[in-house]
Amino acid sequence: MVKRDRVMILGVPVDNITGEEALARIEAFIESGRPHQVVTVNPEFVVAAQSDANFFQVLKEADLSLPDGAGLLWAARFLGTPLSARLAGVDIVRRIASLAARRGYWLFLLGAAEGVAEATAMRLGEENPGLKIAGTYAGSPDPKEEEEIIEMIRAARPHLLLVAYGAPQQDLWIHRHLGRLGVPVAMGVGGAFDFISGKAKRAPRWMQRWGLEWLHRLLHEPWRWRRMLALPKFAWLVIRSRR
Ligand code: UDP
Repeated sequence: MVKRDRVMILGVPVDNITGEEALARIEAFIESGRPHQVVTVNPEFVVAAQSDANFFQVLKEADLSLPDGAGLLWAARFLGTPLSARLAGVDIVRRIASLAARRGYWLFLLGAAEGVAEATAMRLGEENPGLKIAGTYAGSPDPKEEEEIIEMIRAARPHLLLVAYGAPQQDLWIHRHLGRLGVPVAMGVGGAFDFISGKAKRAPRWMQRWGLEWLHRLLHEPWRWRRMLALPKFAWLVIRSRR
């Protein structure tokens, strides 16, 4: 079968790449010096985009769209355009930190609850000696805070900005400000800081392998049930689109 570079899932593009290739692309973005947006697409993103034209456009314009969530791999296979790998945002963040430490890139961690970005930076620094942290800040996606946060990031001059405001806010925020931030790579990372800092527990490996990470999250964070209705909705939309 011919390997496609990009797969479309209900109109949302997803890059069909391995982790190695994703890291190589990110490195090339940094070396170019121009601004790039990275998104980690999961089924919730795809469902949200169906009724949010702005978010849909942001996903279409992203420079790199990583396939996060087992549901995307199922959908791609079902639609006859399989994806080669699932690239969970949290794993990519860890690999980005390792790349940054090796290449001397500066990282800025924005978002999550008070203290979580800091704890994440510390953890990543322990895992990657020599890692350069340009800054950490919780802040919020509230427009009233935008100017202050943009100034903070511009002054810190990181190569990589990781934003944990949850989707779609984090991705809309990055898209709105990408031209002014002065960073070559900005990426929305969802709950990645919560996992890396140890605030939230990642599903055991066997659950990840069986595509059950969503069930683990539901058991540990039951208030997510309403948001998780997006999963059966996603399945239904994919099945209907093939018909
Ligand atoms: N978050 C935040 N400010 C907000 C909304 C969310 O800092 O206004 C943070 C939240 O603390 C968490 C992260 O965004 O660390 C991701 O949230 P969630 O787990 O809901 O996102 P998902 O991984 O499901 O996209």
